[in-house]
Amino acid sequence: MTDTPAPNPRPSVDQDQFLTILSREEALARFEAALFPRAVPRELRALADTLGCALAEDVVAPIDVPPFDRSNVDGFAVRSADLAAAGEAAPVRLVLNDETIACGTSPTRPVLSGTATPIATGGPLPRGADAVVMVEHTQPAGDRAIEVRRATSPGQFVSYAGSDIARGEALLRAGTVIGSREIGMLAACGIASVQVARRPRVAILSTGDELVQPGLPLRPSAIYDTNGAIVTAAIAENGGEAAFRGAIADDEAELEAAMRNALAESDLLVLSGGTSKGAGDVSHRIIARLGEPGIIAHGVALKPGKPLCLAVCDGKPVVILPGFPTSAMFTFHDVIVPVLRRMAGLPPRSDAKVNAKVAVRIASELGRTEFVMVSLVEGVGGLIAYPTGKGSGAITSFAQADGFLKIDALADQMPAGSDAEVTLFTPHVRVPDLVIVGSHCTGLDLVTAPLARAGLAVRSIAVGSLGGLAAAKRGECDLAPIHLFDNKTETYNTPYLADGLELVPGWRRMQGIVFREGDRRFAGLSAQAAVRAALADPACIMVNRNQGAGTRILIDRLLAGARPDGYWNQPRSHNAVAAAVAQHRADWGMTIAPVADASGLGFIPLAEEYYDFALVTARKQRPAVQAFLDALASDESRAALEKAGFRPAAPDGGPLAA
Ligand code: AMP
Ligand code: MG
Repeated sequence: MTDTPAPNPRPSVDQDQFLTILSREEALARFEAALFPRAVPRELRALADTLGCALAEDVVAPIDVPPFDRSNVDGFAVRSADLAAAGEAAPVRLVLNDETIACGTSPTRPVLSGTATPIATGGPLPRGADAVVMVEHTQPAGDRAIEVRRATSPGQFVSYAGSDIARGEALLRAGTVIGSREIGMLAACGIASVQVARRPRVAILSTGDELVQPGLPLRPSAIYDTNGAIVTAAIAENGGEAAFRGAIADDEAELEAAMRNALAESDLLVLSGGTSKGAGDVSHRIIARLGEPGIIAHGVALKPGKPLCLAVCDGKPVVILPGFPTSAMFTFHDVIVPVLRRMAGLPPRSDAKVNAKVAVRIASELGRTEFVMVSLVEGVGGLIAYPTGKGSGAITSFAQADGFLKIDALADQMPAGSDAEVTLFTPHVRVPDLVIVGSHCTGLDLVTAPLARAGLAVRSIAVGSLGGLAAAKRGECDLAPIHLFDNKTETYNTPYLADGLELVPGWRRMQGIVFREGDRRFAGLSAQAAVRAALADPACIMVNRNQGAGTRILIDRLLAGARPDGYWNQPRSHNAVAAAVAQHRADWGMTIAPVADASGLGFIPLAEEYYDFALVTARKQRPAVQAFLDALASDESRAALEKAGFRPAAPDGGPLAA
């Protein structure tokens, strides 16, 4: 079982369903009860290797810092009593002693009354001296003498021994997380190694016949192993010593051997994938044989993340994260991080949080604690949160997201406009300079590239044309990219503009029929003839587009009521159409020329689609908006758009050149 219903569910005979789904809180409580309390093992580490570790003992300063009375400036060591009455009208002459105290030199001569000794910043104060006069506040007075015209008080420009750190003082307490400042304090005391909580050794295994490691070529039907990289990094971020041990095929014997080896050499074993209770999902069966008490929770009321499996095998935690990377990520952070940090002797994470209003209604499943990734933009009355998730299988949501919000298990939705607390992925919110909300196009990246190079933060949130228009009307974005066909006027975009919005012409995208190069049913035909040829062949399968897509309107017109095989396959993107044809799941479909080209497919042009921008007039004068408009009109982006197969609108926004 996964978070997204599979199109071909596994045969039910192989499924033993999640009978006991625990709440998130209950699962975590049981897991922690089975693991804690436990002693945190400690180890002696060289100072340079302690960054991020928790100190395992109180450290008492073994010496005074500074170890001697030290001058804070370049100048002259003096007796302050000699200069107590010095002033503009009462200069005092001091004879220089016959030595200069540099850093690291020990003074040999005392400073007697009426004398001074040249001293460098950091030099130890000589006997008799109790203050330092800055060189800038003196004047030479003949051979080996100076004149001072300022009163001097005892202790001036002197750091006394132990004034920074006193010998015997508690320097750092056990449990302190060591950062560069702590390392500096320890180094100042001459401490070269300290007892720290030993980083838990964490073994990571990915599971699945379909997984290929990044860097290797992708076989048909395979995917790259994402969890291996994510989990390894997240473990290091949270105080563990991560050892990634590769991806193991869904083979019970092979997996059991890998799990036993990994567990023998580590304090915690984290797997991902194969936690569903279906055929091929074997890891939970293996856990039952690895040690007592075994599985603590299998099935947690989290979304994403229901198939999470928590186990303890002879004292060591064993975790199977769900296979989908976003599910793996959220369950790892929500349930595993608290346990890992406790094992590492680290305090709980304290992620930055901000309040925001949710832009749109977010539906939620009753009974599961739900995590929703959001992008933040500045609205009229504060921050606005846009959900960025495309389902638990999507990884790109991370790039657009600033953080996530949590919907309580007892809520079935979060209404638009409600207040939410957003946990940030970074310490601070980065409010973007330019916010683009609407339909995404790869051409957009070409136009915003110079803005990013100029240091402007551009946030582009893909919510479709209508979602973008709604955001523009609410003043939550600068620009809404749209490609909306109006059946009545048979024109694009302009009929959809509301008050306060103006149209900025973007570019044209040629739509047409895609087919595999060499398919003789289509080669050389017009779009209309190609569709007639497809309809005439009962073995021919099409791929459609979703209801509401501009492309769908064109397809329906061409089909004129026909419903060939494949009609109900309705993906939501141009790329999915090309992939279906390239991978032989369909023989033809409609997409845009650049996408067809990138997939190496044959293309029969039909009609141009207008991809334009609804600009919020009130925000037009913003520097980032002006920079965008300049970039859009620039020769550089026009050339880049043309090279990528788009046809930029005429620079003046007027009719296109032929
Ligand atoms: P499973 O729980 O093994 O059925 O996996 C659920 C989904 O997550 C499947 O689509 C898997 O291909 C995918 N998946 C499992 N492991 C990984 C991984 N390490 N990286 C990326 N996707 C994965
Ligand atoms: Mg799997």
